[in-house]
Amino acid sequence: MHPNCAKLHFWGVRGSIPTLDRGMWRYGGNTPCLDLIAPDGTRFVLDCGTGLRTLGNQWANMEGDRPIQAHIFVTHYHWDHIQGIPFFRPFYMPQNDFRFYSFQSKYLGRDSLRQVLEAQLARPYFPVDLTLMPSGRQFSEIKGGDQFDINGTKVFTRWLNHPQGCLGYRFETSAGTIVYATDNEPGVPEMDENLRQLASGADILINDAQCSPEQLASSRKGWGHSSWLESVKLARECGVKNLVLFHHDPDSNDRVVDGYLYAARQEFANTWAATDGMGASLSESRADFHLRPSRLGQRRPVHFSATVSGQSREGARFQEYAVLKEMNLRGGYLWLSHLPQLQSQMDIRVECGTPEHPNCLVLRGSVVHCDVGQERDRVGVGVVFVDETETALPLD
Ligand SMILES: [Zn+2]
Ligand SMILES: [Zn+2]
Repeated sequence: MHPNCAKLHFWGVRGSIPTLDRGMWRYGGNTPCLDLIAPDGTRFVLDCGTGLRTLGNQWANMEGDRPIQAHIFVTHYHWDHIQGIPFFRPFYMPQNDFRFYSFQSKYLGRDSLRQVLEAQLARPYFPVDLTLMPSGRQFSEIKGGDQFDINGTKVFTRWLNHPQGCLGYRFETSAGTIVYATDNEPGVPEMDENLRQLASGADILINDAQCSPEQLASSRKGWGHSSWLESVKLARECGVKNLVLFHHDPDSNDRVVDGYLYAARQEFANTWAATDGMGASLSESRADFHLRPSRLGQRRPVHFSATVSGQSREGARFQEYAVLKEMNLRGGYLWLSHLPQLQSQMDIRVECGTPEHPNCLVLRGSVVHCDVGQERDRVGVGVVFVDETETALPLD
């Protein structure tokens, strides 16, 4: 790791309930969970949705018998933010130690988070009880407006507008600032101001973008969520460097999320759509995003001449002739002279006819991977093909 680098990982990005639908595999179906590793190595977990299981498996495999310590911040007690807790493997290992942070719910009273955890493991909801979870667990009760320091990372909290309450968190590390503001709805002036204070000048702002702007104005008003449009306005107003659209609706398939991302990037270029397995390295306030390897099945070497149309990292359209080097039915790999934007759409037009019978195959993909400098001055680009049965996005 770079000596002064913070690492952020998304393990769950879906709101409300996990999804396993075929049309949602690119963005993923786990409910909210992120981890942030501060430059000094301190571990933070943000929310405990079903993504927590994958994070726990990774830590347990990586650390073996070495002790794991982490500070776990829960934004609120809705199912999608707590349901991963019983499935976090490091809780079942005695050498590990965790400190939880959340607020006192008026419905639960003192020790709200401890009660939530115990209730999840109570009979008849779960097969094992707390005695089989030997890791250390401490609970800190916090509230909106708090400010404290954890090993050099400054943490700020604010109340957000969400039914039964929700906390937003701002983490100021020596490598840059990350703001986690899930589950919030605009429209209450005091809470809107809280959100602006949290987001001000953030290097990475993760904001709720569950609804379309139309839903937010009608059928979803009062549900406690936001939209890509509100997220973009907030990011612009607060001088944010990178915006991550988060808490995707369980009924939004990949093409719907593609559409929100496309619309948001027209207004605010440095926008990303949170994806299970996505990560960002933050160093000197510069964020580098990457997606998880998404290759399913072996790729076959091919040699197809193609005309590629896409969008560069600077936002400009480009077109170039290239050779498709490898592919399977899910995606392909090619070398380009342009550096395309991650998560942008690309059309690959493969000439496959004969001079007498010209024909072509147009493959539409989403850029998931860029290897700079792999082959002389070329960029190795991985794409996954998108499902064209859903509404296509305009390329221009
Ligand atoms: Zn939620
Ligand atoms: Zn909620």
